[in-house]
Amino acid sequence: MDSYTAPGGPIHSAVAFLPDAFVTLVPELSELALPVESRATCHDCHMVDKPGDPAGTVTFSPQVGCCTYHPRLPNFLVGRILREGGEGAERLKVQLREGQPDAWELGPPVGWLDEYQAGRQDRFGKSGFVRCPYLANPAEGGLHCTIWKDRGAVCRTWYCAHDQGPSGAAMWRSLKRVLLTAERLLARWAVSAGDPPRPGAEPEAWEAWYLRAADMVDAWDGEYLGNLADLERSRDGFLGTWSELAEDEVPEVLGACLTKWLVGDDRIVVYGYSAFDVARVPRSLWQFLSQLDGERPWGAAAAEAAFAEEHVLDLFRVGALEPPTSAHLDPVQGSRLRLKTPDGKWLTLEPDV
Ligand code: SF4
Ligand code: SF4
Repeated sequence: MDSYTAPGGPIHSAVAFLPDAFVTLVPELSELALPVESRATCHDCHMVDKPGDPAGTVTFSPQVGCCTYHPRLPNFLVGRILREGGEGAERLKVQLREGQPDAWELGPPVGWLDEYQAGRQDRFGKSGFVRCPYLANPAEGGLHCTIWKDRGAVCRTWYCAHDQGPSGAAMWRSLKRVLLTAERLLARWAVSAGDPPRPGAEPEAWEAWYLRAADMVDAWDGEYLGNLADLERSRDGFLGTWSELAEDEVPEVLGACLTKWLVGDDRIVVYGYSAFDVARVPRSLWQFLSQLDGERPWGAAAAEAAFAEEHVLDLFRVGALEPPTSAHLDPVQGSRLRLKTPDGKWLTLEPDV
């Protein structure tokens, strides 16, 4: 679900339930209509294995989805989760004992990050070992986040697939920086204005502190938070990526810009900007690409190759087709295609046409 109706009107889930202080610091959070990512279907995870995909296609386990991550939660969000109660709070109390509580945040247990980094490629989206401690067990009612209302900036802004492809991904990354910066400012302010326990304190003392931090941030009245230069920089960056969100319109002439492809029996899985957000297209892709000469409109090329428009649009969305100023296709050389990737390398395709 990507939007909620709050008292002031619909609000995107990425910023719903944040303390008011976030909107005071960055008013655009409640003003901009953030995009709804229709492909990131978490109730029926978009990344779970799709029958017929060629070997090597990146997939996630239906047991964990993308929640193979252990968030660091700033003090005031920890307090909000405790105040909310329920399963999320109970799970969080376990982390107060097993994790690393300090005045600013509640982080993962010692050593967790090293283990995570060591096996990240193989484990992300797959391994129960790095399953988020706040993800509900399937037996307890399906995959859902038990601290969803108060999840942190990383989880709020992560989507495996983007309706506006690379420009959408860039926008969410820059919004993540804004939210992380605001989280840090508010958590630091709570520490400087509050009375956190000393390192090594008992879990009960941390629990009481985090609840106080949540109340303090809720009551924040615009008091000086310190130097806001980082926040202003990240906000400017966010507004820049917002203004660059891809237009719906697709240029009339396109060039191939694939970064990787996997060939299956009845489809080709094409990668552009991301290993998670791919286009699945028929094998007539090669005939279509061979028609792109840097001048011919893609509509004519698609008609010639009997390659449906929806596949052209999806290839464009994932960044596998671009205006031919940044991607070039040599004329077909016998049965070979030559195409240039965005980093300037030439690839030779020997498609099975
Ligand atoms: S965002 Fe995560 S849970 Fe949702 S569809 Fe994508 S991989 Fe699955
Ligand atoms: S906090 Fe929630 S959204 Fe984030 S990784 Fe954990 S279960 Fe997933």
